[in-house]
Amino acid sequence: MPKIIHELEKCIGCGACAAVCSDFFELGNDGKAHLKGSKKTSKNEELTVKDVKCAKDAEGTCPVQCIHVK
Ligand code: SF4
Repeated sequence: MPKIIHELEKCIGCGACAAVCSDFFELGNDGKAHLKGSKKTSKNEELTVKDVKCAKDAEGTCPVQCIHVK
């Protein structure tokens, strides 16, 4: 199944991902985006999904390329 990975350290909190893909992304009080329902690893947030839906759009729109859909 596909996996969405969000590199937290690189995120600049611009909100573009949440704008195009609120199914998976929201802005947190810490000024960074968060992947809803994800597991936190040492540096990243990861979520395995059946359908990547708008996550590909979020990956494409992130200005610092810190979202990856694999
Ligand atoms: S688009 Fe990228 S840099 Fe902007 S809030 Fe989302 S993950 Fe962070």
